[in-house]
Amino acid sequence: MVDDPTDQITDELREALRDQLVDIHARFADLDEGEIADYIPELAGANREHFGIAGVGVKGKVIEVGDTDVAFTIQSISKPFVYGLALEDHGRDGVLARVGVEPSGEAFNAIELDEVSNRPYNPMINSGAIATTSLVKGESQVERLHRVITTLSTYAGRDLQVDSATFFSERATGDRNRAIAHLMRSSEMLPVADIDELLELYFQQCSVLVTCRDLAMMSATLANGGVNPVTGERALAQRYVKDVLSIMLSCGMYDYSGEWAYRVGVPAKSGVSGGITSVLPGQAGIAVFSPPLDAKGNSLRGIRVFEELSTRFSLHFMEVLFHNNTLGHAFDRTPDAEA
Ligand code: GLN
Repeated sequence: MVDDPTDQITDELREALRDQLVDIHARFADLDEGEIADYIPELAGANREHFGIAGVGVKGKVIEVGDTDVAFTIQSISKPFVYGLALEDHGRDGVLARVGVEPSGEAFNAIELDEVSNRPYNPMINSGAIATTSLVKGESQVERLHRVITTLSTYAGRDLQVDSATFFSERATGDRNRAIAHLMRSSEMLPVADIDELLELYFQQCSVLVTCRDLAMMSATLANGGVNPVTGERALAQRYVKDVLSIMLSCGMYDYSGEWAYRVGVPAKSGVSGGITSVLPGQAGIAVFSPPLDAKGNSLRGIRVFEELSTRFSLHFMEVLFHNNTLGHAFDRTPDAEA
């Protein structure tokens, strides 16, 4: 397990951190902008008032404010976790042969492949995620679904379920994803016999119900090197954690990813149901849930909360290096000084 710097944090400090989250929550609670996704009809019924912020440290301590217990479907936030499963099933090269690691700069549901390799640009957009789901091993559809749900559950530390209504709703309206899958198969990049079966698995993966607290716990598992901080169960081999995190940093926020890396600077993933979850490696997972989305499909309050958190706590990965630059200290240390 990764050493937990929050270990030394007293209850008092934790209370102070909670106060900051309460303050940030209050600050954005009245922000009434953005649209709830309705291209999957079942998502349209979400309550735009719901708003939660949750953080889980790598020792499993939870700090939460607002609607952190409301269940919603995970949607695209499933993508990095299933990518990890594909890496375990096929290794890095096996997965790289099918899905790239390049930000696309295109919308999450773009019908576009890399012109040279025919691969989807990255596993965080729909094309790449569908290709990734096709890499999940299993003798049968039931076994593959079981493996996907078990993996997500291991990250969350509890048994997660598929929301059938959302699954049926997306299956009934998912022609764009079907088109993407057929395009990939036509360019021989999706060697599956049954595209409908693959899409069912992808839609089920997206329809797994989570809460904001679950998302923070799933991120905390990545922050903790792949081991759930509460159950102690390993969800992902340590060697693949950095692969998942670097994809989240470069591609996790669709065509806002570059701006996110610039403004917020933490690995993260968003979904159209209004969740954003982020990882502070070695420290914590933080998640926000608020259904109204901006034009790119990211939770509007979620973006604002993370910008604020990043500024208040100097979370940006380039800033963290300045504050805790152990490598720099090593160079400063002269042999004399060490003696
Ligand atoms: N299930 C959704 C889709 O494939 C996920 C998209 C998202 O969250 N951006 O369209």
